[in-house]
Amino acid sequence: MNPPDDKLPEVYDTIVLGGGPAGAAAALILARKGRRVVVLEKTTFPRFHVGESLIPEDMKVFEELGLLEEFESLPRFKKNGVEFALGDNSAGSRIKFAQSLTPGAKETFNIERAVLDDAMLSAARRAGAEVRCDCRVEKILQLQDGDVRVQTAQGELRGKYLVDATGQSTVVGRHLKTRQNYTDPSLQKIAYFGHFEHVDRDNALGEDEITMVLCDEGWFWMIPIDETRTSIGLVLDAAVAKQVKRPANQMLAWGIERCPLVRDRVKHAVHPPTNNSISDYSYTCAPFAGPGYFLVGDAATFLDPVFSTGIFLGLEGANEAAHQIDRLLDEKTSPVKAQQQYTQFLRNGTRHFFRLIRAYYNPRFRDLFLNGEGPLSMHRAVIAVLAGQVFPRPSWAVRWRMRAFYACVALQQWLPLVPRRPGFSLLAETPQPATSPQSAELATTPPPSGEVAGEAGRRGQPEYQAAEYSPSPSVAFSDSSPERGAV
Ligand SMILES: Cc1cc2nc3c(=O)[nH]c(=O)nc-3n(C[C@H](O)[C@H](O)[C@H](O)COP(=O)(O)OP(=O)(O)OC[C@H]3O[C@@H](n4cnc5c(N)ncnc54)[C@H](O)[C@@H]3O)c2cc1C
Repeated sequence: MNPPDDKLPEVYDTIVLGGGPAGAAAALILARKGRRVVVLEKTTFPRFHVGESLIPEDMKVFEELGLLEEFESLPRFKKNGVEFALGDNSAGSRIKFAQSLTPGAKETFNIERAVLDDAMLSAARRAGAEVRCDCRVEKILQLQDGDVRVQTAQGELRGKYLVDATGQSTVVGRHLKTRQNYTDPSLQKIAYFGHFEHVDRDNALGEDEITMVLCDEGWFWMIPIDETRTSIGLVLDAAVAKQVKRPANQMLAWGIERCPLVRDRVKHAVHPPTNNSISDYSYTCAPFAGPGYFLVGDAATFLDPVFSTGIFLGLEGANEAAHQIDRLLDEKTSPVKAQQQYTQFLRNGTRHFFRLIRAYYNPRFRDLFLNGEGPLSMHRAVIAVLAGQVFPRPSWAVRWRMRAFYACVALQQWLPLVPRRPGFSLLAETPQPATSPQSAELATTPPPSGEVAGEAGRRGQPEYQAAEYSPSPSVAFSDSSPERGAV
């Protein structure tokens, strides 16, 4: 229950907007340092969220936060590697985090986000943070060092510093109009996803791996999240999605009908009749800190889900922002220095992931990376980055190998160093219904006339909407179709 207004402290040390992993981590750290922190979360937890797969370096952060032991009792599924497979199952390869070039955690886990996020927010509350759920931030009233104010449905709140952890809603980025979508054609994607029961795991999924299924038009993820449930998603080129005459909430079924590997693994599975979707999720809100505020997690920037790096970036950013705010409150640093150091920290870590993600969408990268171990342990350097060994920066041994690897990818374009990998096209496949009754229902539901997946995807689905921040009337943007700009 929320305390009555007359018992609220007059000014909070920090107001955290959003109670996802990044907001919860920032609040937890500051509360443990004895700071007066309030978290404003618009939903009631536990709530659904996409993004169930972690990377090994997440374990290091959980350990530092003292949460690792507690998390062992949560329903989850071990992950020690990734299976990459072509959609028709004609080719594949796998990586194990134990092959990483540099030392670090060798395994991690997948987990339902409702469970993980609730556990993290509860930990922040136990540490002393005041958590207000069902409390949507409606307007930013003031952003200055030492004086920040926000308007919520429950009234106005004042603090000394503000952490924006509102995820894809990017409340501060939209307020300041700094949010800009990445315009690279390879990043224009729409994701369709849902939870399936009893997916066949007599394969890599049973080997504690997640599976990524490669197609010319995008890729599927298959992530076991507990003993019986598997998260399945399709990330599709937005241009392809626009051509498909299916409502957005049936696009996952559209993909599965055309993908022999996924179809085979879900043939006895049970799943809801429609899928969730999200689009326009690649953007930056730089600068990541400014007068009175720090942007953490997706509220700062998000590129692409392909390597499961989102939560890790959110946790690392939250940790750094909390330490900078703590020093500011003790007057051990200046606002300008704290903002610069935070921005630099986030840039240093994200650029290694972002370069790898952009490279991944080049088919020549996949020729090399999925060809097994190459010379000079370059392959193991890529695995070190995939494991998250990038903060504060990757070791020199990793960095020079990554440069050599990218040079090989460029060369592969003109002079094949390894055989080019075959493709697999969903569009070229003849659709075949999956055999479970639920899948059959999906396959035969006719689309409403005139509705195409790309348009429907942009409107978002009632079950899951990415951007729901209502700005002040003077700030012009649309919730379901964020502003687009060149970066
Ligand atoms: C398709 C897809 C798949 C992904 N898969 C993975 C994966 O496997 N692994 C991984 O690590 N990452 C994955 N990600 C990324 C991951 O989901 C995010 O990076 C992560 O959730 C970011 O955490 P966060 O705390 O910054 O934001 P969020 O987890 O989104 O939390 C933000 C919170 O802010 C609240 N909020 C929003 N607006 C307001 C407001 N106005 N007032 C108050 N509260 C508000 C929201 O309700 C929400 O609870 C994926 C992303 C996508 C798009």
